[in-house]
Amino acid sequence: MSLSIHTPLLESLALSQLNQGRVWLKMEAMQPSGSFKIRGIGHACEVHLARGARRFVSSSGGNAGLAVAYAGRKLGVPVVVVVPGTTSSRARHLLIQQGAEVIVHGQSWAEANELALSLLTEQDAFIHPFDDPLLWEGHASMIDEVVAEGLRPDAVVLSVGGGGLLAGVDEGLRRNNMGHVPIVAVETEGMASYRAAIDAGKPVPVSNLSGVATSLGARQVCQRAYDVTQQRQVLPYSVSDQEAVNACLRFLDDQRTLVEPACGAALALLYQQAPLLDNYHHILVIVCGGSTATLATLQSFNEA
Ligand SMILES: *Cc1c(COP(=O)(O)O)cnc(C)c1O
Repeated sequence: MSLSIHTPLLESLALSQLNQGRVWLKMEAMQPSGSFKIRGIGHACEVHLARGARRFVSSSGGNAGLAVAYAGRKLGVPVVVVVPGTTSSRARHLLIQQGAEVIVHGQSWAEANELALSLLTEQDAFIHPFDDPLLWEGHASMIDEVVAEGLRPDAVVLSVGGGGLLAGVDEGLRRNNMGHVPIVAVETEGMASYRAAIDAGKPVPVSNLSGVATSLGARQVCQRAYDVTQQRQVLPYSVSDQEAVNACLRFLDDQRTLVEPACGAALALLYQQAPLLDNYHHILVIVCGGSTATLATLQSFNEA
């Protein structure tokens, strides 16, 4: 049994017509937890359960926490998610709806995370949102599915936050003999911790993160996300918040699917017809999804 589902791979005529190459969408927004995160997190939770874990603990009020809550509900394992007071009532509601126990603590993620870590006993598994080889192994399955459907892309476009998705897609491409295929890693200008790592030559903390793409808000990317750049071509790219939100709204009309600005960042590259993509003919876009945005929040960003 797998907790994630085989998602549709759709050719986008709208995006193919805007760009030089044909564009395919891997629709991770359709995952039961609302984002790709259930691939890696579901895999990690199954491994921890087999090793005897009796409870899963998370400190993410976003899509990672939701994936843990979903996995716990499906596996019959209790889940505790510690979130800071800044977490929206919508996010808390979604976690509770999945049956998780939600503890609100502190005013920042660091404070919530500290409490979460202090709760851990021998019988608990702490599920990290991006920095864990089990996650990358699980995320890699999305590439296996793409290849099984007969597509071998010559470029992959994705969003980068802490770098777990990037590490997983890299792993999936390598295990399908596509270690040479470039990955375009897109983030918003206000959440550019990946760009900061490339500039510094190693992952570094970025203190002043800002903007609407909250699921990209890891202060520091994982070491693995940086190491990938030493082994294959990774092209970092940044878009503005407005561009990310506009991409979400256009994608909603084109594809009838609502995604977060974190996902809109990757889509914005295609809507902008970025010259970066001109030399590629079979472009795969990871539509990573996300549950934290609503149409009303997207429209209010747009008016702000
Ligand atoms: C987590 C997440 C990302 C970023 O993934 P990382 O593994 O942290 O790089 C992007 N988009 C959405 C919707 C997410 O939930």
